[in-house]
Order: sequence, then structure tokens, then C-alpha cells
Amino acid sequence: MLPAGSTIGILGGGQLGRMLAMAALQLGYRVIGYAPAGDNVAADACSDFVTADWDDSAALADFAGRCDMVTWEFENVPISTVLALPKQLLAAPCRALETAQDRLREKKFILGLGGKPAPYAKVESEADLAAAIAAVGTPGILKTARDGYDGKGQWRIGAAGDAAYPGVPCVYEGFVTYETEFSVICVRGRDGALGFWDSTANHHEGGMLALSVLPAGPLVEAQVLEARALAAKVAAALGYVGVLTLEFFATTNGPVFNEMAPRVHNSGHWTIEGAATSQFENHIRAICGLPLGGTATRFATIDMRNIVGEQALTAHAILAEPGEPHLHLYGKAEAREGRKMGHVTRVGHTLG
Ligand code: AMP
Repeated sequence: MLPAGSTIGILGGGQLGRMLAMAALQLGYRVIGYAPAGDNVAADACSDFVTADWDDSAALADFAGRCDMVTWEFENVPISTVLALPKQLLAAPCRALETAQDRLREKKFILGLGGKPAPYAKVESEADLAAAIAAVGTPGILKTARDGYDGKGQWRIGAAGDAAYPGVPCVYEGFVTYETEFSVICVRGRDGALGFWDSTANHHEGGMLALSVLPAGPLVEAQVLEARALAAKVAAALGYVGVLTLEFFATTNGPVFNEMAPRVHNSGHWTIEGAATSQFENHIRAICGLPLGGTATRFATIDMRNIVGEQALTAHAILAEPGEPHLHLYGKAEAREGRKMGHVTRVGHTLG
């Protein structure tokens, strides 16, 4: 067990790091963040924050020297950065990041474990794109294999010719007809113990999560055990420690795997007020070797809405609404369009 007073390093400086740092502080740890220059809102919650490029070996060595454990809040931290850190500091194996950073590798990995991704084909040229569209069919989505998030690096294709090859390796996926999207968020301890939070129904707008709702409805509830079984296989195969998220489409043919994130997840923000232990606290508990907390849902209904762009400018007004809404603002300097600025969680009556 990592003793209280030890220092946890967090790679990445966004809101997930901020909420992880707050959970770590509560458990008596110090936190040092590390990220390139930017609006690193995690810094407010860290004892210290290293602002340096991912390839700054001197800054990384200094950071590593001051940490007892290192985790990440962002799955696109370069592998070379993670490999530059002493292996014994890493809370989870680097291959979890390597798998999640490349959509093709991720899909092969999932297929190997018996999961079902949407039909797909690799696209590394204009000719590949035409062949992929012919093989997989339309409609579909062309996605960059790497560095995509929140719907960025994605192009909807209704017919051949709708998009040109963007010049970087991509995957072309058949468009999945689904009733709802859901995520499986689990925590795995150092001893392999697993906990699952309830799966919310997730609603996206413009490729970005807008709303997560519990209960998720009968179709999700009927598929969640199969989806959890896949998540358990993923966590075990990776030798993963901490919180891991898999996203699915609930279709009439069962759960179709969309993508995974080896980290805490936006669709789990409701767990702060809505579950026995939040995803943030359990991630810290897991990586520090502490006993994991329960994951049970505490309320009959829960919804978590993201606060995006200029909505943040008037968000404090939400506090006057009935039902005791729980408002979280991330302290971002500029309320740019499409930027996640905060979230609000509303809960119904207490269970049990
Ligand atoms: P991703 O970044 O891959 O999670 O995609 C962002 C969002 O786009 C997803 O959460 C879905 O709402 C939508 N999407 C992505 N891939 C597909 C697909 N193959 N079929 C239908 N919708 C998709």
C-alpha cells in the first residue's frame, strides 16, 4: 500500500486529472501533475505541476524523481513519455495505452478476446478508402486511427466520394444502428479484484458525450453482463490496475464494442454523488493498493449533463434549480464552443 503522504504523479492536465487529484488529496496523498503548456485545469488541485513537453527528458526525470507512483488521465500521452519513466512507478502497464491509442490495434485486441466491434477496414490510401467502402458498405464513419477524441478526426460517409483520404492512417467503420450507447466502467485492484459501476445510457451530440442517464433502460440492462464479461477479459489481459472504460452500442444483436479508455471517463462523473465510491476515488485506491470501495448506485434515477462552451457562463444559475443539482465547473479560462467546461449531476430519491 502506498502510505499517506506519498506523491502520485498524473500525466495530463485536464478535468479528469483535476478530479483525480481532488480524490487523491482526500486520501492524504500529494499530487504532481505533468502536461505541456495549455489550460491545465488539474494544476489548481495539484501540490505542484510540471509544465513541459512530453519529450522533455530532463523535466520527466525530475518529475519521476519526485513521484512514488504515476498514473495518467489522458490516453494519448505519447508512449515514449511513459517509457521514459521508471517502470516500477507506473500504476498500469504501458500496453493499455498502446492498445487504446490505435483504433486498429484496439479492434484486433477486442476481436481476439471474443468482443464484437462494428465491421471495419484499415485505410492507408485513397485506394484503400474506396476498397473499404465497397467491402464494409455505407453508411459508415471514417476515423483517424490515432489521436481522435470527442468526434474529432471523424467523417460520416453516406456514399463513396463523401470524404477523401485525409493523409493519415484511418479505419473505416460501418455505421451501427443502435438503440442507445452505454459504457462499462470498472475498477481493477492490484490483486485482480474487480468492481463495476452501473452502466448509464449515454447520449452524444456532435460526437461528444452530452448526457448520461440511469436507469439505462431494458436493452442496456439485458446486455450489460455480456459487456462486463468483455471488460473483465480486457482488464485481465492487460494486467490493468485502476479504472477502465469500454464503450458500447446496444443493438438488437447484442452489445457492439465501440472503443476503450484506460482511465476514468466522462460517463462516470455521476459516480461522485451517485455511487458508494466515485470512479476517481476508486482509481486512486486501486493504484495505491488500498481496499476498493463499493460501486453501488445510491439513487433511483441519476442524470449527468455536460456543460459545454458558453453554457458555463451562466452555470451558477443551475444552483437555484429544484432537486439539489450538483454542479462541477472545471475552471477553464475560455468558454470555447464545443469545449467541456463542467457538468451537473441530478439525482432522484435514495435507494434502499
Ligand atoms: P468515438 O470517438 O469512436 O467514440 O465516436 C464518437 C461518437 O460517434 C460515438 O459515441 C457515437 O455516438 C458515434 N459513432 C462512432 N462510431 C460509430 C459507428 N460505427 N456507428 C454509429 N455511430 C458511431
